[in-house]
Amino acid sequence: MDTILSPRTTTGSTAPLRTGAEYLRAIADDGRRVYVDGELVRDVTRHPAFREGARSIARLYDMAADPANRERLTYASPADGAPVLRAYQIPRTHADIRAKRLAAEAWAEATFGLMGRTPDHVAGFFAGYAAKPSVFAAGGQQFADNVVRFYEKLRDNHLYASYAIVPPQIDRSKPAHQQSDPSLYAGVVREKDGGIVVRGAQQLATGGVFSDYLYLSCIHPLQPGDENYAIGVAIPMNAPGLKLLSRRGFAAKAENAFDYPLTSRFDETDSLVVLDDVFVPWEDVFIYRNTQICFDQWWKTPSHVYGNLQAQARYATKLRFLLGLAKRMNEATGHDKNPPVMVQMGELASLATIVDSMVQAQEVMAKVEDDGVLWPSRNTLYSVMALQSEINPRMIDIVREITGAGMITLPSSERDFENPEIAADLDRFLGTPKQAARDKVALMKLAWDFIGTEFGNRHQQYEKFYGGASFLVKMNVFRNYDFDRATGLVDAALSLPPLAAE
Ligand SMILES: Cc1cc2nc3c(=O)[nH]c(=O)nc-3n(C[C@H](O)[C@H](O)[C@H](O)COP(=O)(O)OP(=O)(O)OC[C@H]3O[C@@H](n4cnc5c(N)ncnc54)[C@H](O)[C@@H]3O)c2cc1C
Repeated sequence: MDTILSPRTTTGSTAPLRTGAEYLRAIADDGRRVYVDGELVRDVTRHPAFREGARSIARLYDMAADPANRERLTYASPADGAPVLRAYQIPRTHADIRAKRLAAEAWAEATFGLMGRTPDHVAGFFAGYAAKPSVFAAGGQQFADNVVRFYEKLRDNHLYASYAIVPPQIDRSKPAHQQSDPSLYAGVVREKDGGIVVRGAQQLATGGVFSDYLYLSCIHPLQPGDENYAIGVAIPMNAPGLKLLSRRGFAAKAENAFDYPLTSRFDETDSLVVLDDVFVPWEDVFIYRNTQICFDQWWKTPSHVYGNLQAQARYATKLRFLLGLAKRMNEATGHDKNPPVMVQMGELASLATIVDSMVQAQEVMAKVEDDGVLWPSRNTLYSVMALQSEINPRMIDIVREITGAGMITLPSSERDFENPEIAADLDRFLGTPKQAARDKVALMKLAWDFIGTEFGNRHQQYEKFYGGASFLVKMNVFRNYDFDRATGLVDAALSLPPLAAE
């Protein structure tokens, strides 16, 4: 199908909560152009690289549509009181922020923290934009109206947006407009009746192949001359001219769910976005040729903190899963009560607890900034994000250390258990007094899929970079830390009264 089929939407009233089946129908064979292994994928819900990832997202929609989860995963739309995803809630009280975190945790638990860009991530960014439309109005009131209308459309139709907000790594030594070809980085190339035309590429749309909409913008600092790249626009994933060039689809290479229990189910995929003269109607343009607003959207609205509150709740959940894996592996190897291993487990638990506590501190230290909207604590958020690129590899390394060869001394695949010539050997030498060989192998394969497979290693890169390079996050902490209070202490120490004897 080559026509644009926008996801089924309602205007003016809230659609019934979307089920998983409705979500899958909406993205199936809708004309989106996804490329993997040299092939154009017509239907991501059927292709082996994407099918199970799409079903994992569908399960999240089913959870939210289940009346048993109404309070945890939804809230009443301000439009008409009907339930909508809590990720779209604009928090006004501490209880609201807590409720948003609990919703994010519920979905993160369902994916073991292994899918970062689920529909609740970019939802947080749009909630942040709608909380502070005045930032967009600086370019003209119509842009503020557009972003609020689009937010309401996402919210009231339970839609899934992904984003690509980083220019491709072509030549980082030059600004956007001085690249060898001015249409390498995604930007506007001309206006056309009723809208604008966008051309170029942007990285890296995690979950893009599964989403309804792409938000295309730029978080990298732009310079004078870069105005054409200073845009913020929403594009349906099946818009003509939009192509998603997926990285290797790990799930397609995962032979079965026993050997690759995580790869086979939770590969959210990452895609380079290519725009071949994509037309965007004015109503889906929120920022137009304005470098200041392009910058301010991240830092002068609560978008970045709402989106990353979800990201951190997801990460804390993933670390809890890692702790569980390590504990079960120690039980399997007989090291669980070995004091040096207990010390290492204590270090792991400390690091996981720091992350978890920092997520909760974002709520506790949240403040109403203006417009009656609550912002999670930026300093707390950015501090834990800044240390993530050190904490994460440290934790993975400890788990590698305590496991020895446990994740490697494994049958080559599930099929080895079916060969009578070796099945008895596997049962005898891989089992433990408490655990049948097959159960122990399943556990170790689960851990290896988390840590050592291509899927596991991509996750380590993801945790390093999903919130931007760590030097940038540290700059955020620098900008937000209360240095006045710190230097005040130094000044007080320097002006202490003389000692009695002096
Ligand atoms: C798995 C994964 C998923 C992602 N998902 C998304 C997504 O969904 N949407 C999206 O928009 N983006 C996504 N990203 C992209 C991510 O936002 C970028 O990778 C990130 O912003 C870093 O940019 P870069 O990769 O271009 O690195 P660069 O900006 O090129 O930097 C690379 C390295 O160079 C060094 N460096 C560069 N400049 C400096 C400097 N001034 N000072 C000190 N050191 C410097 C640092 O070591 C830095 O880490 C994802 C990335 C990964 C790896």
